Amino acid sequence: MSEYQNIVVIGASQAGHSLVNALAPNLPTTHRILLVDALDFAFWPIASLRAAVVPGWEKRVTAPLNTSTVFDAGSAHQVIAPNKVVELRESSIVLEKPFEGSTELPFFRCVIATGASQPAPMRPAEGATEESYRAELVKSQEEIAKATKVVVIGSGAVGVEMAGEIKSAHPSKSITIVSASPHVLNPGPVEPAKDKDSWVSPTVLPKLSSALEAAIPALGIDLILNERVVVPSSGAAVAEGEKDRRGGLCVCVDWKQAELGNRAEGGPRSGEGGLVVVDEFLRVRSDKLKNYYAVGDVSNTPGWKTVQGAKYDGEGAAPNIVADVKGQSGKKYVRPTAHGMIIPLGPKEVRGHLTLPVVGTWMLPNAMGKAVKGTKLFVEDSWLPRFKGAEKVAVPAPA
Ligand SMILES: Cc1cc2nc3c(=O)[nH]c(=O)nc-3n(C[C@H](O)[C@H](O)[C@H](O)COP(=O)(O)OP(=O)(O)OC[C@H]3O[C@@H](n4cnc5c(N)ncnc54)[C@H](O)[C@@H]3O)c2cc1C
Repeated sequence: MSEYQNIVVIGASQAGHSLVNALAPNLPTTHRILLVDALDFAFWPIASLRAAVVPGWEKRVTAPLNTSTVFDAGSAHQVIAPNKVVELRESSIVLEKPFEGSTELPFFRCVIATGASQPAPMRPAEGATEESYRAELVKSQEEIAKATKVVVIGSGAVGVEMAGEIKSAHPSKSITIVSASPHVLNPGPVEPAKDKDSWVSPTVLPKLSSALEAAIPALGIDLILNERVVVPSSGAAVAEGEKDRRGGLCVCVDWKQAELGNRAEGGPRSGEGGLVVVDEFLRVRSDKLKNYYAVGDVSNTPGWKTVQGAKYDGEGAAPNIVADVKGQSGKKYVRPTAHGMIIPLGPKEVRGHLTLPVVGTWMLPNAMGKAVKGTKLFVEDSWLPRFKGAEKVAVPAPA
């Protein structure tokens, strides 16, 4: 039996890791953080599309995930990875592999930060190691390099970005984006919420959709909207009504957001898309799982499902957990307004907007977008500084 009471955080990505960084300096020494992740490495999804296209980038999207990279030397907090949480109980969780001699881990509070799932190579497949994930990215780079015609299905952020990355790395390739939607991204109107627990995707600024719809053909990428794709078993993709556009390779990259990474049987009531329903303190709304919080993509907190949104949630839940430890009341969480939607079409062409309190929403000039995100994809500015441990984390500079 440990001398500490445990704060268990499931998921060591944007939401979970940000929460841990906000919690660690403020937690009384009676309690320790146990940060659990199914993967034995951290990865940076924002750069995974470039890593699937551009050689060398596979080494920029993964980092070692262990107690030394996350926590101060001598701290009682620990990273438990790789280890998967397979069951949520009222005051304990069940791990796939034992920790301190048991697969059952009791806790004072538990945070679900298990995110969403997308197919590889956008995210590592279940059971991936750092080596196997990098190999998967290199395989994708090689397949794309070999293809002469590429069809990207879907004009969401991921589809558009993927097409831009491929065109930038391979200017002579024929690339076509085909989408059933009338527009690039989703400029509205806003879908009505089914009930008060449903999460509804915010709409994109129409000016951003228009800017991308102009930039895509200007880069030499064909854009076919309002069209469905038939994917025959041969793997070639044919857009209905565009039979001559048979592609050599079909890259399907629909951004499949809002899926529950860790769906607990008999767990919290889930809203639309399997999201975990939370209250205004970010506590899971459930009669059974009373000592749980949920943050990031897995939860129904309103707003964009982005790295910044997940970070806001993690940082919003941390003071409430400290308040629980101290027997005080928590603070209602309201997501801060500041956010950006910045879409790189390769390192040199970037379209996006920023929303700031008071100032409002404004389109980012290309040069600023390129400097802020295009070249380095926030690896050095946002991701690496998240690792606060004694062991420093570094990745190679972009080639
Ligand atoms: C290709 C792609 C591009 C993107 N581009 C952008 C972008 O440009 N800007 C932006 O802001 N956002 C972007 N996003 C979205 C952003 O990555 C997510 O919103 C963000 O990662 C959500 O963070 P999270 O911590 O909630 O979940 P995740 O990042 O999904 O992390 C969940 C973690 O939980 C772990 N886990 C899951 N189940 C278990 C379990 N049972 N036991 C233990 N561990 C478990 C996983 O291994 C993972 O580490 C992109 C996403 C993708 C896929």
